[in-house]
Amino acid sequence: MIFDKCYKILVVDDAKDSQMLLSFDLKAAGCDVISAGSGEMALAILASTGVDLIILDVHMPGLSGLVTLERLKRNVHWQMIPVIMLSSSDGEDEVVTALELGADDYVVKPYISKVLFARMRTALRLREKTKALEDLAKTDFLTGINNRACFDELASCAISQAQRSERPLVMAMFDIDFFKLVNDDYGHDMGDKVLKSFAASLIESFRNYDIIARIGGEEFAVCLPNTSIKNAIYACERLRASVEYMRVPLNNGSKKEIGITVSIGVASSVSASLNIDCLLKQADIGLYYAKSQGRNQVPTFRT
Ligand code: GH3
Ligand code: MG
Ligand code: MG
Repeated sequence: MIFDKCYKILVVDDAKDSQMLLSFDLKAAGCDVISAGSGEMALAILASTGVDLIILDVHMPGLSGLVTLERLKRNVHWQMIPVIMLSSSDGEDEVVTALELGADDYVVKPYISKVLFARMRTALRLREKTKALEDLAKTDFLTGINNRACFDELASCAISQAQRSERPLVMAMFDIDFFKLVNDDYGHDMGDKVLKSFAASLIESFRNYDIIARIGGEEFAVCLPNTSIKNAIYACERLRASVEYMRVPLNNGSKKEIGITVSIGVASSVSASLNIDCLLKQADIGLYYAKSQGRNQVPTFRT
């Protein structure tokens, strides 16, 4: 097998014969091919379709390959797509410019399919490895949910969107009660197991588009877009109750299970200014209040 899966390749070339040949070879190699006769057409296609790799002719009337490449690399949604430039000349300045603009590779026409495929495989592999590293950098290693850095990025984006669309958004913070005792009484491994179970309860309780993260040791946050404070409190209360009933079996093989409780603070985008730090601070005040009132609760004093 030439490629390890069916990749979607965008072929951009103004010469019809070259476009058809590439399309033929790539389809024979198991790829899904979309063809564009110009840089303009390629950008229009990308605006509505995702692709895995682009093969881009350098010399085209209208938007040249290099200008098209420059536009691709300036767009945050497209800049990670690997691009292999294709040209009938191998002028060194052109090669250098293409690579400096962010092309992954450069192949001279007439191409040798075996070589083109090998270069494509390398570019695709590199992209997949980079993506895996990026995902790892966004993930909390223990629970597998978003980490703090990723939460800041996603929640800030959701907050801006809420602001633009004038829709409500709620920030909720969760802190496991007396968690230090779990570690002290049953060991750090058991503490870790409890954190994983708690993260799983968050995933189960909240909607797919709520942003869930571990933001500290035993502190978690959920950003709920398009949610009124009333509905958010309802959802948090449901989570609180499910955590109270959750039982985590001890690691030592005994039949004993342990339970935990959680304190929760919420803040809505109407009661605080629309800024992630302010919302987290407001939610933290609610959380602190929940702790002071005996823990295992979602205070509603702010609504
Ligand atoms: P409170 O109800 O006031 O929140 O009390 P608490 O004991 O939960 O809070 P405290 O901040 O005193 O203790 C938090 C504990 O969380 C201390 C720390 O060792 C533990 N912790 C932080 N990160 C991890 C982790 O990744 N794994 C484990 N097992 N424990 C952790
Ligand atoms: Mg804490
Ligand atoms: Mg705690």
